[in-house]
Amino acid sequence: MRLLLLAPPGAGKGTQGERLAAWSGARHIAAGDLLRAQAQAATPLGREIAEHQARGDLVPDQVVLNVLIPVVVEAAAAGGYILDGFPRTLPQAIAAAELAADLGVALDATIYLSAPEEVLTQRLLDRASEGGRADDRADVIRRRLRIYAELTGPLVPYYQERGILITVDANQSPESVTADIQAGLSGLSLPG
Ligand code: ADP
Repeated sequence: MRLLLLAPPGAGKGTQGERLAAWSGARHIAAGDLLRAQAQAATPLGREIAEHQARGDLVPDQVVLNVLIPVVVEAAAAGGYILDGFPRTLPQAIAAAELAADLGVALDATIYLSAPEEVLTQRLLDRASEGGRADDRADVIRRRLRIYAELTGPLVPYYQERGILITVDANQSPESVTADIQAGLSGLSLPG
């Protein structure tokens, strides 16, 4: 199974990615986690990633591709992936499609998790109050949501035009969201 989770900050990509990986056996690849791990390194690249993440800006496409592509290639060979947070811009989506074509694989579906902005903001603020991430601050959350709308939102029509978009209401319990995703996927004829 090869899936992409497309969603604004706070919609539950990480939670659903873990649940779907456990269910399907495909590898959960969380772009934000991989980049945060790289950001820990005391290297110029680590510092560059950390600065972008702290501001709520996207990490430059080429940096993201350098980090993500080897992981995606390995997972493709090992039986599939649930991509969470990658691709997140049109250039990344085009690079990912070229990579998939080179590997002779294709995405089965893109799951778009949708929820109202006030729900997303409240979830991120709740996570902050539970000792969450450094970028879960009101001003940085606003910036992340704005950048999502500007740079990632265009991927919704991109995948819709390719006929692989499944839209799911993310303003429900995690269990209900997973069930809706599984119901959406059951309508596809998945290989294997
Ligand atoms: P969220 O979706 O809540 O913002 P993530 O962990 O997916 O959480 O992403 C956190 C941060 O990591 C983003 O704000 C951005 O700085 C960086 N990031 C993650 N994925 C990408 C990507 N595909 N392209 C560029 N930057 C990314």
